[in-house]
Amino acid sequence: MEKIYIIGHTSPDLDTVASAIAYANLKNQLTKTENYLPVIAGEVNAETDFALKKFHFEKPSILESLAQKKVILVDHNENSQSLKGREKAEIIEVLDHHKVDFSYSKPIVFKVFPLGASATIIARCYEKNNLEISKEIAGLLLSAILVDTVITKSPTCTEEDIKYIEKLAKIAQIEDWRAYGLELFKIRSSVNTKTPEEIIKGDFKDFNFKQGKIGIGQVETVDLSDFDDLKENLLKKLKEIQEKENYHSVILFITDIMKEGSLFLVAGKDLSKIEDALGEKLKNNEVYIPGIISRKKQVAPKFMEIFDK
Ligand code: MG
Ligand code: MG
Ligand code: MG
Repeated sequence: MEKIYIIGHTSPDLDTVASAIAYANLKNQLTKTENYLPVIAGEVNAETDFALKKFHFEKPSILESLAQKKVILVDHNENSQSLKGREKAEIIEVLDHHKVDFSYSKPIVFKVFPLGASATIIARCYEKNNLEISKEIAGLLLSAILVDTVITKSPTCTEEDIKYIEKLAKIAQIEDWRAYGLELFKIRSSVNTKTPEEIIKGDFKDFNFKQGKIGIGQVETVDLSDFDDLKENLLKKLKEIQEKENYHSVILFITDIMKEGSLFLVAGKDLSKIEDALGEKLKNNEVYIPGIISRKKQVAPKFMEIFDK
């Protein structure tokens, strides 16, 4: 039988990679085949690399294009977040936890739930199908849920996510999942080895709004002051990306997960509109907003309100 590729979004994060691996494992078990193959749309980030090694997984191979492939999309559904070639791919299923912006010419399996991570949906699928979750898969799914929910602090985190964090931590033999979550975020936010471009593009999403393309990157840290010396170079790089890649605006928000707020750095054409979306005035292209930590639930919807009308 033809291979079915399971793939997440570009600029792969831990949830995208863990979901591809675990969902392929689940599908292969259910069908008693090896037809399902996890792949990624680009290089993995530091915490993903760490979690893969910790739980003994090979890094999935990088796919160049979706064209002419049978695919299952995980952890995204919008076209702007897919690897190129999607219009020539055969999509057979979508499993995601983002807002839906999707159309397709045929009926397909479409599993979207408002949960904190795609990994939670997959953990639930194992249970529903009475499949055992191995220690390794449990560890990988747990890592993904911890990062996507910012160790349960994100407003996207639900009771269901917490239930699975606890279940998976037991199976993975992680005694203190909060401490493990912080370990992941320390790796995620180790900026001293990264270039401004790597920091901006490490977790970056394009939004094709009616009034223009906006790129929003996010980086989490346990100490915002680590970025004090980097801000100027980050702003320069944002401006460069905005001009070169023809964005209306490019934004990086740096989330302090201890203080539970974010510093927004912005490069764009019409900053008063960005201020409308943020609900705050910018000063020297930046503003700190307490209480904002989720792109999906707090930032993107406000931009949609302003830029999609
Ligand atoms: Mg993701
Ligand atoms: Mg996710
Ligand atoms: Mg995320």
